[in-house]
Amino acid sequence: MSALIKPTAQTQTVLDRPFQLLIDGAWSDSKSGETLDVVNPADGSVIAKIPAGTEQDVDRAVVAARLAFEAGAWARMTPGDRAKLLWRIADLIEARKEEFAELETLDNGKPITMSTWVDVPAAVAALRYWAGWCTKIAGETRAVDMPGEFVAMTLREPVGVVGLITPWNFPLMSAVSKLGPALAAGCTVILKPAEQTSLTALRLGEVLLDADVPPGVVNIITGLGSVVGAAIAEHGGVDKISFTGSTAVGKSLIGAARGNLKRLTLELGGKSPTIIFPDADLESAIAGAGNSIFRNSGQICVAGSRLYVARNQFDQVVDGLVKFASEFKLGPGLDPATTMGPLVSDAQHGRVLDYIASARAEGASVISGGNAFGTEGYFVEPTIIGDVNPQMRVVQEEIFGPVLVATAVDDLDELAALANDSIYGLSASIWTQDISSAYKLAKKIRAGTITINSGSIAGPNLPFGGFKQSGWGRENGADGIESFTELKTVITAL
Ligand code: NAD
Repeated sequence: MSALIKPTAQTQTVLDRPFQLLIDGAWSDSKSGETLDVVNPADGSVIAKIPAGTEQDVDRAVVAARLAFEAGAWARMTPGDRAKLLWRIADLIEARKEEFAELETLDNGKPITMSTWVDVPAAVAALRYWAGWCTKIAGETRAVDMPGEFVAMTLREPVGVVGLITPWNFPLMSAVSKLGPALAAGCTVILKPAEQTSLTALRLGEVLLDADVPPGVVNIITGLGSVVGAAIAEHGGVDKISFTGSTAVGKSLIGAARGNLKRLTLELGGKSPTIIFPDADLESAIAGAGNSIFRNSGQICVAGSRLYVARNQFDQVVDGLVKFASEFKLGPGLDPATTMGPLVSDAQHGRVLDYIASARAEGASVISGGNAFGTEGYFVEPTIIGDVNPQMRVVQEEIFGPVLVATAVDDLDELAALANDSIYGLSASIWTQDISSAYKLAKKIRAGTITINSGSIAGPNLPFGGFKQSGWGRENGADGIESFTELKTVITAL
């Protein structure tokens, strides 16, 4: 680990404990006894080991989750008591917020300012939001169009045992944004965090025990996606998968879920456009576009990775973005001065650099950045690429790194077609002072979230998900909670 920046003693104590799997309310080693290294992406050092879960571990977790779902304290718990439990979990995370933030930064690489001010508070707020839903899940009464007298009603019941599979870019937030509605709805879960960033999920497991979550309600199985994730996806005892990750893995889950026709919510990749109209407030638009693609080192599913600007303003906007990019301070996330951390892993570092190389090979020009940064860790300079055409890989494929591709637009009537020229449809952002143009374009863009004169905004009450190959279903809000329920119709003849 970098000699100069060390975690606090409290966080080091957590790292020094042996990490285990949480199954049926107790910690245990993986069946294989094998572990995976936890690597600090700021310097490549191994900072801990986590269990490499197996199919048998998943099996044990599913049995525990099924038992807890059908009988025992959880099955009998009132909605109000579930709400108190979620609130208690939020309080316990908040009480340990510095430690959660440090673990997230060490594991993922993101700046400590971001973990402290975004990831951890957002996770706490989300749990409190979902606590409120426990007592508000409701059905409806319906008319029956038949001779005779009837009462017909719908009931919303928990979908059952749910597999929650999460990615590495916002580990705690992703886990909580699935755990909150799953528990609010009364489900039991198997949580499988990304193998690159499992520390905050495992620490969350300790919090769940401290909060007295009944055994079997939340099981946490770390390990490889191809082993643990695949076993959850294939398991006949799992009723639903809520997955956030790549489109490729999302597609593989469709096949895996076939056996018992699991319900699937898929939050997948994106290649989101940022569109700047000539009348936009350019200073805000440049800052918004820059933040959108460079925050969290570009590892954000809604990152505005394609920029479209009118040709006569292209140089001015790109110059502004080059300056914006040059002001990031790259460094280890634990350094409070760092504003851009490393990419999450050696593999992701290689992948992003390969994309930049492909752009050069296909004839694009690297306007700024374009290189690895520093002598240790997985840093990539914030990068802006111009002279692109719509067929290039960097324009079509999700890079998931700090790489912006900029296109000069000659005909503003083409903006909708350019924005929609993607297999993805996760989000888009539009910058203009003419709200009518903004709405007209927003209606034409096929994406799940559109922001106008703002970078990405998310929250547990704002439905979130993708059109096209960005996914199936919506998380958050009423739609999010409903996705963890089954709808039952009960008709009574009077
Ligand atoms: P990934 O698909 O490789 O992994 C995501 C999770 O799936 C991990 O927990 C992984 O272990 C697991 N997994 C891998 N193979 C599996 C398999 N065969 N069966 C079951 N599970 C498996 O994605 P990633 O590289 O961790 O994350 C980056 C991707 O996630 C990007 O494409 C990004 O856009 C996407 N993402 C989407 C959203 C969203 O809300 N739409 C949010 C964050 C990230």
